[in-house]
This record gives sequence, C-alpha cells and structure tokens, in this order.
Amino acid sequence: MKDSNNTLKRLSFIVLGILSILVGIIIIREGWSYRYGIAVPRLAGYLMAAFGVAFLLYGILTKKIPKAYVICLDCRNSFYAKDVHQNRCPKCEGTVEDLDGFYDRHPELREEERNNSV
Ligand SMILES: [Zn+2]
Repeated sequence: MKDSNNTLKRLSFIVLGILSILVGIIIIREGWSYRYGIAVPRLAGYLMAAFGVAFLLYGILTKKIPKAYVICLDCRNSFYAKDVHQNRCPKCEGTVEDLDGFYDRHPELREEERNNSV
C-alpha cells in the first residue's frame, strides 16, 4: 500500500517535471503569446524548465533509493537490507521484514517494546 503510494507520488513528480519542461520550452521558444494581454518574460520559461528538471530528478532519483533497513521478527534487530539474504536474519535466522512501516503492521509489538523500555 505504502509502496504504491510512493510510486504514484514519484510518477506525478515525473509527469509534473516533464510538463513543466515542455511548457518552459514553449515559453522560451515562442514566448507566451500576447493573446491575453500579458507578456510572460522568457525568464519564466527558464524557471519553469528548471523546476521541471528538479521535479523530474526528484521523481527519478527517489525511485532508486532502496528499502534501507529490515528488522527481524524474532530478535528485533535491524539490519541493512543488502546484508540480509532470502529474508533470513543474519543473527538468528528469523524472518525479517521491512523496517519501514513495521510497527504500523505490528502495533502489538510497538506496545510490547514500549512496555519493555519503561
Ligand atoms: Zn533475528
């Protein structure tokens, strides 16, 4: 669920970026017409394109950030996802899950942890 939201967010940044770049290029090349009585300075086109590139990069780059951490269901240690193979805990061979959203999926463990730490 969270993943698809992120994908959607990234996609909208990419689409927004491309649109901004296109509009920027149109403004730079043709100028925004005087049709409406307002002249849009060419600078706005460059700004628009720059924003577009920024959006586009954001959308593309965030996509490449992997899920960084996993947590073991048994010993509750967290590890870099790249250090874990086949979803087995390197310490106890327990099952690992993504740390991201872990306590949302297991609210009972959050309670447990809170009680332990007090
Ligand atoms: Zn473990």
